[in-house]
Amino acid sequence: MRKKVIFGNWKMNGTNAAVEEFLSVVDAQANNTEVVAGLGLPFTALSTGLKLSKNVKIAAQNVHFEKNGAFTGEISIEMLKELGVEFVIIGHSERREMFGETDNTVNLKAKAILAANMTPLVCCGETLETKEAGKTVSFVNNQIEKAYAGISKEDAIKTIIAYEPIWAIGTGKTATSQDAEVVCKAIRENLAKIYDQATADQISIQYGGSVKPDNIKELMSMPNIDGALVGGASLLSKDYLALVNYNK
Ligand code: PEP
Repeated sequence: MRKKVIFGNWKMNGTNAAVEEFLSVVDAQANNTEVVAGLGLPFTALSTGLKLSKNVKIAAQNVHFEKNGAFTGEISIEMLKELGVEFVIIGHSERREMFGETDNTVNLKAKAILAANMTPLVCCGETLETKEAGKTVSFVNNQIEKAYAGISKEDAIKTIIAYEPIWAIGTGKTATSQDAEVVCKAIRENLAKIYDQATADQISIQYGGSVKPDNIKELMSMPNIDGALVGGASLLSKDYLALVNYNK
């Protein structure tokens, strides 16, 4: 059975003090045996997060694909690994739109993360313009084909996908669970074409975009939605716990 994976993404929020306060409240209660609970933290708070969490998996929000070198301001996989980070969010739409992330760099990052036995959480999703042009599925499938180019099926099953329609991120507009399911199902069908059905059936696909305690149950009831990537609502300990314990 696929794992249910619910991660918060704190983006550029979270001092060490804030992370400490948050985890002291949530970690013990984020003990849902049916859910892998996680939190994407800024680089500067990763050590604190890792030290204070037993149940909550700590993720970085980016990494460089090169091993080392003249890349001012970047962080390498070895640096994350040294801290004990196991999960890395890549290809988030904010990084694509504001910081030049491309399908090609997502692919290079995914390969480098997998080579280090870490888990890439691969984000994809369309703009409002693409959605209104009726091209969501072909656009997202193209992103997935490029992200997984050259990745073996043995490695593909170690990855997590986050389908995040850009128009739903931080806007309060959530895709209906049916619409999100249509795209997540299409992603799985595409993975079955790239690899095979057994491989596609093992890859967890999250939905992201204004997920909140009051809509998570409905989203999680969809057969191809295996989790959520949550920005805004994950900042509040009460909401984070309601999300990762949605089935209790
Ligand atoms: C995100 O940043 O991945 C996200 C889904 O944000 P929000 O939940 O705030 O829409």
